[in-house]
Amino acid sequence: MTIYRGHLLHVTGSATLEDAAEALVSEPDGALAVGPDGRILYSGAWADLPASLAGDGVVDTGAYLMPGFVDTHVHFPQTLTTDEFGGGELLEWLERCVFPAESRLADPVFADAVAAEFVRRRIAAGTTSALVFGSAFPTAQDALFTRTLDAGLRIVSGRGIQTVGPASAAALLTSEDAAIGLAEDEIARWHGRDAGGSASDARSALAQVAVVPRFSLAVTAETLGRLGDLYAQAQAGGVYFHSHLNENDRPGDGEIAAVRDLYGVQTYLDTYDGRHLPGSQTGGESLLGRRSILAHAVHCTDGELHRLAETGSSIAHCPTSQLFLGSGTMPWRRTVASGVNIAIGTDIGAGDEWLIPRVLNDCYKVHMSEHGDRGAAIGPAQLLFLGTLAGARALDQERVSGNLDAGKDADFVIVDPAAQPGFGLSLDTAADGGDESHLFTLLMGMREASVTGVYVRGQRVLAPEPVVP
Ligand SMILES: [Zn+2]
Repeated sequence: MTIYRGHLLHVTGSATLEDAAEALVSEPDGALAVGPDGRILYSGAWADLPASLAGDGVVDTGAYLMPGFVDTHVHFPQTLTTDEFGGGELLEWLERCVFPAESRLADPVFADAVAAEFVRRRIAAGTTSALVFGSAFPTAQDALFTRTLDAGLRIVSGRGIQTVGPASAAALLTSEDAAIGLAEDEIARWHGRDAGGSASDARSALAQVAVVPRFSLAVTAETLGRLGDLYAQAQAGGVYFHSHLNENDRPGDGEIAAVRDLYGVQTYLDTYDGRHLPGSQTGGESLLGRRSILAHAVHCTDGELHRLAETGSSIAHCPTSQLFLGSGTMPWRRTVASGVNIAIGTDIGAGDEWLIPRVLNDCYKVHMSEHGDRGAAIGPAQLLFLGTLAGARALDQERVSGNLDAGKDADFVIVDPAAQPGFGLSLDTAADGGDESHLFTLLMGMREASVTGVYVRGQRVLAPEPVVP
């Protein structure tokens, strides 16, 4: 057993966005006792540490102890291609920048180098859990899962499925049959791989698999129908569904207009809800549910938000990416009011910040800047909730991670402001304003430099050596 001493910061229990402030734990002289099985035995004031636990190995961090961050939307094959100039919005950027960049992962040596770098960047940012939009190439996905498990991080990922696309996406496309076959094969080989074949443990294993069509424009009604059949079978085992939704609403030829034109549906969400035939008629099984996460959801109708909430699906909110691609701002108050679970995603590489608190920083600013009564000052505890517990909830892994409650796996980060020039002084000053003021300065101001230790199930996560492709 090891006891970490430091300033505990987390949102305890099963808090919601609404009551996150009441559930905030800020314990300046705290103890986090981690058992040999990697679970948290005690979390609270150092002074109240049970006598039965005292005396074991103590690591006095002199720093903050926080839950590991959860990134619910990040693109592995775009690891090296943040800040690419596409000269346009989403669809132009995909065609000119992303499809050519992702095609390079056909080379297994390059793909492995990218996988190593992806894992390094996650560790540098303290992202212990991530829902990872995968590569089209199975060998690249094998490298991603292998590198991730070697390091000891959590991952949910699936190969990016595309059956149609422009010329620049040619290398990423497969036939309809191959799209289904490769998804089945990835589930068979990687879902719950580290659980050793135990079906019940697969749902909380480090490595899990998602069914990931890039978006409705990259597939066909046939693909969506067949993925619905596949998902209907696979979801009982804990397989996830992940895609993009309502990101770009440029009139006439933007993403949403194109989806509605192509499928003849009433809403974009219908295409993922089994209603992908003209007039939104039912064409198959729904892909929505407890383990379904849709990225962006910037321009949802009230009906779409209601449907996401009632199916238990989650939104991966990616404000940094939305700034980069000019996608607009997800209406904060209206989305929250729908009751849908909202978590945070970096959306690397349209987003260019790996560190979840940097995305929370943008989240605060864009919603503060919404017009008139729509604007909101998201509270510090709510920001911490979005980047940790809400993410674990989106991934249906709240039972094992998301905060530092006793009984959960010890997924945590050590955040040492002394490692970030000038940051300690700012925090000392902010401490005079109370717990929430202090937390706000920490989350808004922290950079990767202050993340000095990353742990999953009590084990320190180790970054692979950089690989030069
Ligand atoms: Zn994305």
